[in-house]
Amino acid sequence: MTDPVISLLSDLVAIDSVNPSLVPGAAGEAQIADAIDAHLRSLGLDVHRQEAAPGRPNVIGVLDGSEPGRTLMFCGHIDTVGVSGMPAPFIPVVRDGRLYGRGAQDMKAGVAAMIDAARVAQARGFRKGRLVIAAVVDEEYASIGADALVRDWKADAAVVTEPTDLQIAVGHKGFAWAAIETRGRAAHGSRPTDGRDAILRMGRVLTRLERLDRELQSRKPHPMLGTGSLHASIIQGGRELSSYPDVCRLQLERRTVPGETVDMFARELRDLIDALCEEDRELEASIEVMFSRPPYELSSSHELPLALEAAALTAGTRPSTVGMSFWTDAAILGEAGIPSVLFGPGGAGLHSLEEYVLVNEVTICRDALASLARTWP
Ligand SMILES: [Zn+2]
Repeated sequence: MTDPVISLLSDLVAIDSVNPSLVPGAAGEAQIADAIDAHLRSLGLDVHRQEAAPGRPNVIGVLDGSEPGRTLMFCGHIDTVGVSGMPAPFIPVVRDGRLYGRGAQDMKAGVAAMIDAARVAQARGFRKGRLVIAAVVDEEYASIGADALVRDWKADAAVVTEPTDLQIAVGHKGFAWAAIETRGRAAHGSRPTDGRDAILRMGRVLTRLERLDRELQSRKPHPMLGTGSLHASIIQGGRELSSYPDVCRLQLERRTVPGETVDMFARELRDLIDALCEEDRELEASIEVMFSRPPYELSSSHELPLALEAAALTAGTRPSTVGMSFWTDAAILGEAGIPSVLFGPGGAGLHSLEEYVLVNEVTICRDALASLARTWP
Protein backbone atom coordinates (compact mmCIF):
# COMPACT_ATOMS: atom_id res chain seq x y z
CA MET A 1 0.00 0.00 0.00
CA THR A 2 1.22 3.47 -0.83
CA ASP A 3 2.22 5.48 2.22
CA PRO A 4 -0.33 8.29 2.82
CA VAL A 5 2.40 10.92 2.56
CA ILE A 6 3.29 9.72 -0.94
CA SER A 7 -0.38 9.67 -2.03
CA LEU A 8 -0.73 13.22 -0.74
CA LEU A 9 2.47 14.26 -2.51
CA SER A 10 1.20 12.78 -5.80
CA ASP A 11 -2.08 14.66 -5.40
CA LEU A 12 -0.20 17.93 -4.83
CA VAL A 13 2.18 17.43 -7.77
CA ALA A 14 -0.86 16.78 -10.01
CA ILE A 15 -2.16 20.29 -9.28
CA ASP A 16 -0.67 23.11 -11.36
CA SER A 17 0.44 25.81 -8.90
CA VAL A 18 2.93 27.76 -11.00
CA ASN A 19 3.54 31.17 -9.51
CA PRO A 20 1.58 33.79 -11.54
CA SER A 21 3.97 36.62 -10.65
CA LEU A 22 6.85 34.59 -12.04
CA VAL A 23 4.99 33.34 -15.13
CA PRO A 24 2.22 35.75 -16.23
CA GLY A 25 -1.11 33.98 -16.64
CA ALA A 26 -0.01 30.92 -14.64
CA ALA A 27 -2.49 28.98 -12.47
CA GLY A 28 -1.41 30.26 -9.06
CA GLU A 29 -2.09 28.67 -5.69
CA ALA A 30 -5.93 28.79 -5.36
CA GLN A 31 -6.58 25.18 -6.39
CA ILE A 32 -3.77 23.62 -4.38
CA ALA A 33 -4.80 25.74 -1.37
CA ASP A 34 -8.34 24.28 -1.61
CA ALA A 35 -6.92 20.75 -1.73
CA ILE A 36 -4.72 21.37 1.32
CA ASP A 37 -7.58 23.05 3.16
CA ALA A 38 -9.78 19.97 2.61
CA HIS A 39 -6.99 17.57 3.57
CA LEU A 40 -6.20 19.42 6.81
CA ARG A 41 -9.90 19.40 7.73
CA SER A 42 -10.07 15.65 7.05
CA LEU A 43 -7.26 15.24 9.61
CA GLY A 44 -9.31 17.16 12.16
CA LEU A 45 -7.26 20.36 12.21
CA ASP A 46 -8.74 23.83 12.58
CA VAL A 47 -8.21 25.49 9.24
CA HIS A 48 -7.70 29.21 8.62
CA ARG A 49 -7.17 31.02 5.35
CA GLN A 50 -5.31 34.21 4.80
CA GLU A 51 -5.46 36.04 1.46
CA ALA A 52 -1.92 37.20 0.73
CA ALA A 53 -3.29 38.66 -2.52
CA PRO A 54 -6.64 38.20 -4.29
CA GLY A 55 -7.01 34.51 -5.17
CA ARG A 56 -3.72 33.61 -3.50
CA PRO A 57 -4.52 32.22 -0.04
CA ASN A 58 -2.20 30.86 2.63
CA VAL A 59 -3.78 27.85 4.37
CA ILE A 60 -3.01 27.37 8.05
CA GLY A 61 -3.97 24.26 9.99
CA VAL A 62 -3.89 24.26 13.78
CA LEU A 63 -3.67 21.27 16.09
CA ASP A 64 -4.02 21.96 19.81
CA GLY A 65 -2.89 19.47 22.42
CA SER A 66 -4.89 18.94 25.59
CA GLU A 67 -2.11 20.45 27.71
CA PRO A 68 -0.80 23.98 27.26
CA GLY A 69 2.67 24.34 25.80
CA ARG A 70 4.70 26.10 23.20
CA THR A 71 3.81 26.55 19.55
CA LEU A 72 5.75 24.75 16.86
CA MET A 73 5.23 25.76 13.24
CA PHE A 74 5.90 23.80 10.08
CA CYS A 75 5.98 26.02 7.03
CA GLY A 76 6.23 25.31 3.31
CA HIS A 77 5.45 27.11 0.07
CA ILE A 78 2.85 25.75 -2.34
CA ASP A 79 3.83 27.66 -5.50
CA THR A 80 6.33 26.34 -8.03
CA VAL A 81 8.48 27.79 -10.78
CA GLY A 82 7.36 27.46 -14.43
CA VAL A 83 7.15 24.31 -16.51
CA SER A 84 8.17 25.41 -19.98
CA GLY A 85 10.01 22.59 -21.77
CA MET A 86 8.73 19.87 -19.40
CA PRO A 87 6.79 17.15 -21.26
CA ALA A 88 4.41 16.19 -18.39
CA PRO A 89 5.04 18.41 -15.37
CA PHE A 90 1.78 17.60 -13.54
CA ILE A 91 1.76 13.83 -13.99
CA PRO A 92 3.51 12.42 -10.94
CA VAL A 93 5.50 9.30 -11.81
CA VAL A 94 7.16 7.01 -9.26
CA ARG A 95 10.14 5.13 -10.65
CA ASP A 96 13.20 3.60 -8.95
CA GLY A 97 12.39 5.14 -5.60
CA ARG A 98 11.93 8.61 -7.06
CA LEU A 99 8.80 10.67 -7.56
CA TYR A 100 9.03 12.92 -10.62
CA GLY A 101 7.09 16.10 -11.43
CA ARG A 102 7.26 19.88 -11.15
CA GLY A 103 7.49 20.85 -7.50
CA ALA A 104 8.15 17.25 -6.39
CA GLN A 105 11.20 18.37 -4.45
CA ASP A 106 10.69 22.15 -4.37
CA MET A 107 8.71 21.77 -2.31
CA LYS A 108 5.51 19.74 -2.45
CA ALA A 109 7.39 16.85 -0.79
CA GLY A 110 8.16 19.05 2.21
CA VAL A 111 4.56 20.30 2.25
CA ALA A 112 3.18 16.74 2.12
CA ALA A 113 5.61 15.65 4.87
CA MET A 114 4.63 18.49 7.22
CA ILE A 115 0.91 17.89 6.68
CA ASP A 116 1.13 14.14 7.12
CA ALA A 117 3.33 14.67 10.20
CA ALA A 118 0.26 16.20 11.88
CA ARG A 119 -1.67 12.99 11.19
CA VAL A 120 1.12 10.76 12.56
CA ALA A 121 1.73 13.00 15.59
CA GLN A 122 -1.98 12.81 16.43
CA ALA A 123 -2.08 9.04 15.98
CA ARG A 124 0.92 8.61 18.28
CA GLY A 125 -0.44 10.95 20.94
CA PHE A 126 0.06 14.68 20.45
CA ARG A 127 -0.72 16.15 23.85
CA LYS A 128 1.16 19.30 24.59
CA GLY A 129 1.23 22.73 23.01
CA ARG A 130 0.16 23.76 19.55
CA LEU A 131 1.22 22.63 16.11
CA VAL A 132 0.71 25.09 13.25
CA ILE A 133 0.92 23.82 9.66
CA ALA A 134 1.40 26.81 7.35
CA ALA A 135 1.14 26.36 3.58
CA VAL A 136 2.15 29.68 2.04
CA VAL A 137 2.05 31.25 -1.42
CA ASP A 138 4.60 33.03 -3.58
CA GLU A 139 7.97 31.95 -2.19
CA GLU A 140 9.37 31.65 -5.70
CA TYR A 141 8.75 35.34 -6.40
CA ALA A 142 8.35 37.84 -3.57
CA SER A 143 7.23 35.76 -0.56
CA ILE A 144 4.03 37.72 0.00
CA GLY A 145 2.71 34.54 1.65
CA ALA A 146 5.35 34.38 4.38
CA ASP A 147 5.10 38.16 4.86
CA ALA A 148 1.36 37.81 5.47
CA LEU A 149 1.83 34.74 7.68
CA VAL A 150 4.11 36.44 10.20
CA ARG A 151 1.77 39.44 10.46
CA ASP A 152 -0.97 37.26 12.02
CA TRP A 153 0.74 34.12 13.29
CA LYS A 154 3.36 33.58 15.96
CA ALA A 155 5.33 30.52 16.99
CA ASP A 156 8.16 29.64 19.37
CA ALA A 157 10.03 27.77 16.65
CA ALA A 158 9.56 26.76 13.04
CA VAL A 159 10.79 24.18 10.58
CA VAL A 160 10.67 25.25 6.95
CA THR A 161 10.54 22.02 4.97
CA GLU A 162 12.54 23.14 1.92
CA PRO A 163 14.75 20.43 0.40
CA THR A 164 17.95 19.94 2.42
CA ASP A 165 18.77 16.26 1.73
CA LEU A 166 17.59 15.57 5.30
CA GLN A 167 20.30 17.83 6.74
CA ILE A 168 19.39 20.54 9.24
CA ALA A 169 20.11 23.91 7.69
CA VAL A 170 20.54 26.71 10.22
CA GLY A 171 21.32 29.47 7.75
CA HIS A 172 21.29 30.63 4.17
CA LYS A 173 22.41 33.54 2.04
CA GLY A 174 20.41 36.69 1.34
CA PHE A 175 20.16 38.57 -1.93
CA ALA A 176 19.74 42.05 -3.38
CA TRP A 177 18.75 43.18 -6.88
CA ALA A 178 19.87 46.43 -8.44
CA ALA A 179 19.86 48.21 -11.78
CA ILE A 180 22.57 50.47 -13.16
CA GLU A 181 21.87 52.75 -16.08
CA THR A 182 24.54 54.48 -18.15
CA ARG A 183 23.48 57.35 -20.36
CA GLY A 184 25.08 58.48 -23.60
CA ARG A 185 23.93 60.60 -26.51
CA ALA A 186 22.17 59.23 -29.58
CA ALA A 187 23.78 60.23 -32.85
CA HIS A 188 24.34 59.00 -36.38
CA GLY A 189 26.99 56.26 -36.34
CA SER A 190 29.19 58.30 -38.67
CA ARG A 191 29.48 61.24 -36.23
CA PRO A 192 31.75 60.23 -33.35
CA THR A 193 32.10 63.80 -32.10
CA ASP A 194 28.31 64.00 -31.53
CA GLY A 195 27.66 60.49 -30.20
CA ARG A 196 28.25 59.21 -26.67
CA ASP A 197 28.20 55.43 -26.46
CA ALA A 198 26.16 54.29 -23.43
CA ILE A 199 27.00 50.61 -24.02
CA LEU A 200 30.77 51.10 -24.08
CA ARG A 201 30.40 53.11 -20.89
CA MET A 202 28.54 50.17 -19.33
CA GLY A 203 31.55 48.07 -20.35
CA ARG A 204 33.64 50.01 -17.86
CA VAL A 205 31.01 49.38 -15.19
CA LEU A 206 31.06 45.65 -15.98
CA THR A 207 34.86 45.50 -15.68
CA ARG A 208 34.65 47.11 -12.24
CA LEU A 209 31.83 44.79 -11.19
CA GLU A 210 33.92 41.77 -12.12
CA ARG A 211 36.74 43.13 -10.02
CA LEU A 212 34.36 43.74 -7.10
CA ASP A 213 33.04 40.18 -7.38
CA ARG A 214 36.59 38.78 -7.26
CA GLU A 215 37.27 40.92 -4.19
CA LEU A 216 34.04 39.73 -2.48
CA GLN A 217 34.94 36.10 -3.15
CA SER A 218 38.44 36.54 -1.76
CA ARG A 219 37.13 37.71 1.62
CA LYS A 220 37.26 35.48 4.70
CA PRO A 221 34.39 33.02 4.16
CA HIS A 222 31.50 32.52 6.57
CA PRO A 223 32.11 29.03 8.02
CA MET A 224 28.89 27.57 6.58
CA LEU A 225 27.84 29.93 3.80
CA GLY A 226 31.09 30.93 2.12
CA THR A 227 31.42 34.46 0.73
CA GLY A 228 29.14 36.98 -0.89
CA SER A 229 29.20 37.31 -4.66
CA LEU A 230 27.57 39.17 -7.51
CA HIS A 231 26.73 38.56 -11.13
CA ALA A 232 25.30 40.50 -14.06
CA SER A 233 21.83 39.13 -14.84
CA ILE A 234 20.17 41.11 -17.64
CA ILE A 235 21.50 43.80 -19.97
CA GLN A 236 19.64 45.96 -22.46
CA GLY A 237 20.76 48.76 -24.73
CA GLY A 238 20.97 50.05 -28.28
CA ARG A 239 18.35 50.73 -30.92
CA GLU A 240 19.92 49.98 -34.29
CA LEU A 241 23.27 49.16 -35.85
CA SER A 242 23.96 52.57 -37.32
CA SER A 243 23.36 54.71 -34.22
CA TYR A 244 25.15 55.57 -31.00
CA PRO A 245 23.17 54.07 -28.10
CA ASP A 246 21.81 56.67 -25.70
CA VAL A 247 21.11 54.36 -22.79
CA CYS A 248 22.20 50.99 -21.41
CA ARG A 249 20.56 49.27 -18.45
CA LEU A 250 22.11 46.45 -16.46
CA GLN A 251 20.31 44.44 -13.80
CA LEU A 252 22.46 42.54 -11.38
CA GLU A 253 22.21 40.38 -8.32
CA ARG A 254 24.34 40.35 -5.18
CA ARG A 255 24.19 37.34 -2.85
CA THR A 256 24.93 38.21 0.76
CA VAL A 257 26.18 36.30 3.80
CA PRO A 258 25.52 37.21 7.47
CA GLY A 259 27.20 40.53 8.19
CA GLU A 260 26.52 41.90 4.70
CA THR A 261 23.56 44.25 4.27
CA VAL A 262 21.71 45.83 1.38
CA ASP A 263 23.09 49.22 2.48
CA MET A 264 26.62 47.86 2.13
CA PHE A 265 25.75 46.69 -1.39
CA ALA A 266 24.33 50.11 -2.30
CA ARG A 267 27.55 51.70 -1.04
CA GLU A 268 29.71 49.28 -3.05
CA LEU A 269 27.85 50.31 -6.20
CA ARG A 270 28.02 54.01 -5.40
CA ASP A 271 31.79 53.81 -4.74
CA LEU A 272 32.26 51.97 -8.01
CA ILE A 273 30.34 54.57 -10.04
CA ASP A 274 32.03 57.45 -8.19
CA ALA A 275 35.45 56.04 -9.08
CA LEU A 276 34.47 55.80 -12.76
CA CYS A 277 33.10 59.36 -12.77
CA GLU A 278 36.36 60.51 -11.21
CA GLU A 279 38.19 59.07 -14.26
CA ASP A 280 35.74 60.49 -16.77
CA ARG A 281 33.72 63.57 -15.86
CA GLU A 282 31.42 62.94 -18.83
CA LEU A 283 30.22 59.59 -17.50
CA GLU A 284 26.59 59.60 -16.42
CA ALA A 285 25.26 56.65 -14.48
CA SER A 286 22.52 55.98 -11.96
CA ILE A 287 21.92 53.18 -9.47
CA GLU A 288 18.63 51.77 -8.22
CA VAL A 289 18.43 49.05 -5.57
CA MET A 290 15.18 47.30 -6.46
CA PHE A 291 14.59 44.54 -3.91
CA SER A 292 16.43 42.65 -1.22
CA ARG A 293 16.05 39.94 1.37
CA PRO A 294 18.47 39.43 4.24
CA PRO A 295 20.56 36.33 4.92
CA TYR A 296 19.50 34.12 7.82
CA GLU A 297 21.41 32.38 10.57
CA LEU A 298 20.42 30.56 13.76
CA SER A 299 23.01 29.33 16.27
CA SER A 300 23.59 25.61 15.76
CA SER A 301 23.49 25.21 19.55
CA HIS A 302 19.91 26.59 19.69
CA GLU A 303 17.48 24.05 21.16
CA LEU A 304 15.51 23.74 17.92
CA PRO A 305 18.22 22.12 15.76
CA LEU A 306 19.17 19.91 18.70
CA ALA A 307 15.57 18.76 19.22
CA LEU A 308 15.15 18.17 15.48
CA GLU A 309 18.37 16.16 15.38
CA ALA A 310 17.07 13.92 18.18
CA ALA A 311 13.73 13.55 16.36
CA ALA A 312 15.50 12.69 13.09
CA LEU A 313 17.50 9.97 14.87
CA THR A 314 14.26 8.30 15.96
CA ALA A 315 13.17 8.41 12.29
CA GLY A 316 16.32 6.59 11.23
CA THR A 317 18.54 9.38 9.92
CA ARG A 318 21.48 11.26 11.43
CA PRO A 319 21.48 14.81 10.06
CA SER A 320 24.40 17.21 10.14
CA THR A 321 24.05 20.94 10.61
CA VAL A 322 24.64 22.82 7.38
CA GLY A 323 24.07 26.13 5.58
CA MET A 324 22.17 26.41 2.29
CA SER A 325 23.08 28.72 -0.56
CA PHE A 326 19.52 29.58 -1.68
CA TRP A 327 17.27 32.09 0.06
CA THR A 328 14.10 30.83 1.80
CA ASP A 329 11.12 32.02 3.83
CA ALA A 330 13.08 31.04 6.99
CA ALA A 331 14.62 34.53 6.79
CA ILE A 332 11.16 36.11 7.06
CA LEU A 333 10.17 33.90 10.00
CA GLY A 334 13.54 34.56 11.64
CA GLU A 335 13.19 38.33 11.21
CA ALA A 336 9.74 38.09 12.81
CA GLY A 337 11.33 36.52 15.89
CA ILE A 338 10.56 32.86 15.13
CA PRO A 339 13.74 30.76 15.40
CA SER A 340 13.73 28.60 12.27
CA VAL A 341 15.61 25.79 10.59
CA LEU A 342 15.24 24.08 7.24
CA PHE A 343 14.73 20.35 6.95
CA GLY A 344 13.38 18.49 3.94
CA PRO A 345 13.89 15.47 1.71
CA GLY A 346 16.52 15.07 -0.98
CA GLY A 347 16.21 14.72 -4.72
CA ALA A 348 17.40 16.70 -7.70
CA GLY A 349 16.41 19.04 -10.48
CA LEU A 350 15.08 22.06 -8.58
CA HIS A 351 13.90 24.62 -11.14
CA SER A 352 15.11 22.41 -14.01
CA LEU A 353 13.40 20.23 -16.62
CA GLU A 354 13.52 16.96 -14.69
CA GLU A 355 12.69 17.30 -11.00
CA TYR A 356 12.33 14.45 -8.55
CA VAL A 357 12.30 13.71 -4.83
CA LEU A 358 13.51 10.54 -3.10
CA VAL A 359 10.41 8.71 -1.87
CA ASN A 360 12.05 7.13 1.20
CA GLU A 361 13.36 10.53 2.32
CA VAL A 362 9.84 11.97 2.19
CA THR A 363 8.64 9.35 4.69
CA ILE A 364 11.71 9.83 6.90
CA CYS A 365 11.14 13.60 6.86
CA ARG A 366 7.47 13.09 7.82
CA ASP A 367 8.46 10.73 10.66
CA ALA A 368 11.11 13.13 11.99
CA LEU A 369 8.65 16.05 11.95
CA ALA A 370 5.97 13.95 13.69
CA SER A 371 8.47 12.98 16.37
CA LEU A 372 9.54 16.61 16.82
CA ALA A 373 5.90 17.70 17.15
CA ARG A 374 5.38 15.20 19.95
CA THR A 375 8.63 15.91 21.81
CA TRP A 376 8.85 19.71 21.42
CA PRO A 377 8.15 20.90 24.97
ZN1 LIG B 1 11.47 26.22 -2.51
